[in-house]
Amino acid sequence: MKDIVLGIDIGGTNTVFGLVDKSGNIISQNKISTRGNEPPNTLINRIREKVDSLLNETPNLELLGVGVGAPNANHFTGIIQNPPNLSWGDVNIVSIISEKFLSNVKLTNDANAAALGEKHYGVAKDMNDFVLITLGTGLGSGIFSGGKILYGENSMAGELGHLSIDQNGRLCSCGLKGCLEMYVSAKGIKETVIDFKKQYPNDSFLSGLNSDELDGKMIDNAIDNGSEMAKRLYEFTAEKLAFALAQVASILNPEAFIFYGGYSQAGDRLLDPTRLMLDSFLMDNLKGKIKILESGLSMDQTGVLGAASLIWNS
Ligand SMILES: [Zn+2]
Repeated sequence: MKDIVLGIDIGGTNTVFGLVDKSGNIISQNKISTRGNEPPNTLINRIREKVDSLLNETPNLELLGVGVGAPNANHFTGIIQNPPNLSWGDVNIVSIISEKFLSNVKLTNDANAAALGEKHYGVAKDMNDFVLITLGTGLGSGIFSGGKILYGENSMAGELGHLSIDQNGRLCSCGLKGCLEMYVSAKGIKETVIDFKKQYPNDSFLSGLNSDELDGKMIDNAIDNGSEMAKRLYEFTAEKLAFALAQVASILNPEAFIFYGGYSQAGDRLLDPTRLMLDSFLMDNLKGKIKILESGLSMDQTGVLGAASLIWNS
């Protein structure tokens, strides 16, 4: 018999899960729609069915445990707290999954799962101190400090998206003003496009953008085609990001910030100006010492691998 771990990455739209061996090979992987308007039991039942057939297809596998990454997940209590895009309220996902799989279950939030994936199988393999940042609809982060993920007292550490960079800035749904996520994320860049349109009403690139259908590729393509305004949009975003990273760096002294998720595919278009500006915001002793990297794992794999590593590395 070969030991195997089930890694589940629950997202607002899709849930990805896979059977992962000890070396981080995904033996089989599946993606289903989360259907956030249905109760969580239904999702876990659908996963159970698929996993049963995967286990039947590949005999001699023994399920050692289940690792789960999910939005707003509390590592200590096993509860997912009122997750965005899912009408679940507060739900003890660990007890639901334990019941269905009769197995050892561990939970962490989605950004921490991505950080664990990078640590065990990605670009952060040899790092003890780094910050993983997910750039999607919002901005999430997972922190490794001294070789361990940083959870804090209530599993709330690493909420870098809600670090305020302007006390009179844009209003965030968390109750604060000027949160980083309101500038650096799909949501934030959309707000910037709206502001820029007011400032530059005659710009052809901006007037061609529908802020409701904005996606990073439109900006990437415009930059590649020489649009100065598209470049300016990312420079504005990079400046906000770099300022926040410098604050975090002065507390954590990380070896690297690693970027993952939709907008990280902008790559150097966004990260080069961030690198330049980061140094200007860092105190002298930290200048030139902090790397800004892109994730080394594919988008569908990081969360599954990280979730599975909760069991493999516990
Ligand atoms: Zn906030």
